[in-house]
Amino acid sequence: MLFCTIQDYPTYGNLSGYTVKGECACPICEDSLKGKWLSASRKYVYFDHRPFLPPDHQYRKLKKAFNGEQNFESCPKVFTSQEVFDKVKDIKITFGKLKKSKDAHPKQGYKKCSGFWRLPYWRFLFVRHSLNVMHIEKNVFDSLIGTLLNIDKKTKDGPKARDDLKKWNIRNELHVVEETGKRKYIPPAAYTLYKKEKVELCSTLAGVKVPEGYSSNISSLVSMENLKLVGLKSHDCHVLMEDFLPIAIRSILPKNVRYTIIRLCCFFKAIYSKVINPKELDSLEVEIAVILCQLEMYFPPSFFDVMMHLPIHLIREIRFCGPVHMRAQWAFERQMKTYKGCVKNAYRPEACIAEKMFYELAMEYCLEHIDHVKTLGLPTSRHSGRFDGMGTIGRRDHDMSLDKWHMAHTYILFNEDEVAPYVNRHMSFLKAQNRKANPKALATEHSKSFRFWFKDQVMKEQPVSERLRSLCYGPDFRASFFSAYVVNGCTFYMRDQDDKSSMQNSGVSLEVEAMYFSSSKDNRPVYSKMQYYGVIDEICELHYMGFSIAVFGCKWADNNNNVICDGLGKISMNLNKLGSEDDPYILASQAKQVFYMTDPLDKTRSVVITTKPRYAIDDHDDNIVSKERSSTSEVANVNDSTDDTSTYVRSDHEEGIWLMARKKKRASSPRDEEALIECENRRGRTVLKLVGNAIRKGIKLPLEWNRNKVPVGDNKDYFRLSHWCCCS
Ligand SMILES: [Zn+2]
Repeated sequence: MLFCTIQDYPTYGNLSGYTVKGECACPICEDSLKGKWLSASRKYVYFDHRPFLPPDHQYRKLKKAFNGEQNFESCPKVFTSQEVFDKVKDIKITFGKLKKSKDAHPKQGYKKCSGFWRLPYWRFLFVRHSLNVMHIEKNVFDSLIGTLLNIDKKTKDGPKARDDLKKWNIRNELHVVEETGKRKYIPPAAYTLYKKEKVELCSTLAGVKVPEGYSSNISSLVSMENLKLVGLKSHDCHVLMEDFLPIAIRSILPKNVRYTIIRLCCFFKAIYSKVINPKELDSLEVEIAVILCQLEMYFPPSFFDVMMHLPIHLIREIRFCGPVHMRAQWAFERQMKTYKGCVKNAYRPEACIAEKMFYELAMEYCLEHIDHVKTLGLPTSRHSGRFDGMGTIGRRDHDMSLDKWHMAHTYILFNEDEVAPYVNRHMSFLKAQNRKANPKALATEHSKSFRFWFKDQVMKEQPVSERLRSLCYGPDFRASFFSAYVVNGCTFYMRDQDDKSSMQNSGVSLEVEAMYFSSSKDNRPVYSKMQYYGVIDEICELHYMGFSIAVFGCKWADNNNNVICDGLGKISMNLNKLGSEDDPYILASQAKQVFYMTDPLDKTRSVVITTKPRYAIDDHDDNIVSKERSSTSEVANVNDSTDDTSTYVRSDHEEGIWLMARKKKRASSPRDEEALIECENRRGRTVLKLVGNAIRKGIKLPLEWNRNKVPVGDNKDYFRLSHWCCCS
């Protein structure tokens, strides 16, 4: 059974038989949403999403902020599959060239009865064709960043967009200013960045380093010279939209525009999360309508092509087809690239692919029966077989200092399941001995003396397991140190190794449930969960009898008055403000990878971005995602309900765009032209061979031309057509 089809937008049109361009380009709203023609930009736009808002929403009354009119229309109706089938069942398709105009297909709406309708269940499906979120996200991001950075050919702003404002008679302050004898000037709108802001945005993105396997190297996509992003692939747009853009724009743009863009980013992040609460879908649907309306308040109508409209239908599809990540197309698009590589004869692409695949499968089958041969094809994951942990780079063995050995060994003991009963017994033993001691002093004594007490206890008891016995003896003083370690599907580096690399693998976080004391005399400690952030300073493997345990020595950021969670759901801290150094070690298996991005608001601070291991299934993933999701609602809702110029005009700077006056072509006289043609004829092609030989021999040929570009001087013959002819 065919569940639904997923494809990019033009193919959506082919498969569904609906025309996805022109006035009614949205196949879900059909003709209830008509695009408006922009005569200067020469395109249809889908401006004004107020019908999708709740009926009593305050934006419906605004005039100036939108197209100069109030809008109380109701939400466009979505046709059911049966209704669509009734429309298309009688459409006759005429193949070949159409002779009479009456045979011509309708320009809008359904133009054919797609073959899928022959499936008996097709007319009962809620979603027949699914929108591809990957493409929508890329297109939205491209328009957004293109307009913000004013990238040539990508920006949706410009003289034509402003002329459309003039034709619609809205936003008079933003019309192109023309003064006789001067260059044209485009005044700054709410989204126009001045140069310093552009530099800041680009430099923040250029400084991003990500962990291995997270995304491509983002800093290589930024051109600081031209202040733009280049060569963006759809996955780059995905990570930029979800993680980096909301942080990079923290210090720029007016507050209302910035918050709207951050909300848009959060919306995409929310729909991409692995777990979505169905109860939140209604609020998300209103959220995207409000975001689009707010974007309409700040951005020009030409910004709103059909790709900006499609996000409004994504929630409906999630409701019927489940979370977006289950329909993600990254893997398939990548596989298609492999298939396209198989095509050697463009006339028969499918046959080429089929033949290549057939040979590959046959070869793989044969190789299964030959020993000691590796199959070609997809490389095996570098994480396979390394989930339990494995040091990879820079192994060196040397002795640990006694302090470090004690700290690492005690931490391992406290985190071993088999040792847990002894930990409780030791605590009760200490309490019984010193009834008056306060909890803080007890805890210090506990960590100090536990390993000795534990050793005595285990020695007395018979029989105990081998593992417990090796644990009580402690590890060898000689430990193995590494620069890189792979565990749980993540690669971890030491900070020094990070500095040499273009990746950032040293960030680590740990959630700890522990006792917290407000002071050394605190008698009422609090048990609570606390998240610690730090960087790895040391990676070492301790060798016990019969097994080894890897630990990471970390430098933890101070958790008191340093770690701040702002209203946007982002956690930032100063990593140079270190917390207590009594307990630097954690088990490698406990480490959760995070990475840090410099906070543009305060360069001494870093913003935390959490990652998910690529090849591992995390049991607690649900909790993480629901936590991530809640951050979306934390974005303070700047409800811009003022209906005046302040919404769309930027008043804090005046760096608008100056248009270059078109250079008038100098009228050349017929005599000049004749001279030019003659010169071309006489000069002929440069005799490269001769010049090349001369250069090789070290001979210098002085070249001279006169004003009419005719070669003169001793070597003029080398550049004459006649010379070329006689040479060859
Ligand atoms: Zn629509």
